[in-house]
Amino acid sequence: MKVVLQQLLLLLVPTADFAEQKFQDHRSFTAIVGLILAILLPSLWIWDYITDPVGAANTIGLRLLYLLMLLMTVGFVYGKSQRRLLLILSMFGAFAAEALFLAILNRLDGGMVYGLAGFLYGMFLALLSLQCFSLLVNISYTLAGAAIPHVLAVLGFAPGFPHQQYAALMWPIAILTLLTQVAMAHHYLMRYELQRKLERLSITDPLTGAKNRRFFMALLADEKLKAQRMSQKLALLMLDIDHFKRVNDTYGHPSGDRVICQVTDICRQMSREIDVVARLGGEEFAVFLPGSDAEQAVAVAERIRSRVEATAVQSMNDQAIHFTVSLGVAELRPTDVTEVDWLGRADAALYAAKNSGRNKVMTQSQ
Ligand code: GH3
Ligand code: MG
Ligand code: MG
Repeated sequence: MKVVLQQLLLLLVPTADFAEQKFQDHRSFTAIVGLILAILLPSLWIWDYITDPVGAANTIGLRLLYLLMLLMTVGFVYGKSQRRLLLILSMFGAFAAEALFLAILNRLDGGMVYGLAGFLYGMFLALLSLQCFSLLVNISYTLAGAAIPHVLAVLGFAPGFPHQQYAALMWPIAILTLLTQVAMAHHYLMRYELQRKLERLSITDPLTGAKNRRFFMALLADEKLKAQRMSQKLALLMLDIDHFKRVNDTYGHPSGDRVICQVTDICRQMSREIDVVARLGGEEFAVFLPGSDAEQAVAVAERIRSRVEATAVQSMNDQAIHFTVSLGVAELRPTDVTEVDWLGRADAALYAAKNSGRNKVMTQSQ
């Protein structure tokens, strides 16, 4: 029950991320709907002509106003970051289209009798073109869209408007539209949540919960570009557990896994919130340190090294596992062409730390 309420709340009052993603996912679809409406609604003049060939001469101009629906296409194609503005324009456009239809019916003999079903297009519009907005917007439009002809008629804009017939025709369809909108919004929410989950899984190491190599390499590439352009400091460290094979051989693979998780925890504890800890594979880790130079990164690496040295992990059969790590540090240089050059220097420093006896921090040479 709580989950259902939470989902309903997210549908009605979406987070900024959810609202933006929904908008972007539906933008091109809405643009196509605008194009189709801009062709369809003026063409429906043929219906005016069939209803009242004489009166239809007076509706051509109004029908052509529906060509303004093209603005919807233009807006949704080019207004990539104009969600709020497009929301206001879409609502205004939809209501204006309805008022325009009422004006057309006014000019046709028998229009109010034969034309009522035309308002149902408003519900199609609600279903198709408003999917890019929140459920609250959808519901508001459907209710307001169904009520507006009543209101305009009461205000005197549509003499002879058959309230009862209109209500009998429109409101059942409005209720069906509302239900469909809820179902479609819920379906999108399920898809959105699944997509977020898959995205999270695709960048996370399952054993430790740290970021994986795929994420880390992409992060280095992005941050390298930004930092070189803005002359900012960036550093990274690489870490490898010493003689890990022995840990596995002595205490078993599951105990080895515990050691790997412990190293992840220590890397997290010894670095800042903005640093990124990744497991690059096996018993090899890297930490990305934005805004740090080699000296600061060496200090972090040294904190990790000494904390690991002082830590014992409990094996599966309750023995204390003591182990050490070796670390290599490299800061980004203006001459680094790719992130692999940079990572390569950290790797070389790590290799040097291993060769000089392990349980050490080494920094890049030249
Ligand atoms: P060095 O000090 O030179 O790094 O020696 P090492 O024994 O740590 O290095 P080596 O590359 O020879 O061995 C790494 C071992 O890590 C071999 C592999 O079985 C183990 N390993 C890789 N992934 C995992 C894992 O997910 N869990 C466990 N328990 N062991 C793993
Ligand atoms: Mg190792
Ligand atoms: Mg290794």
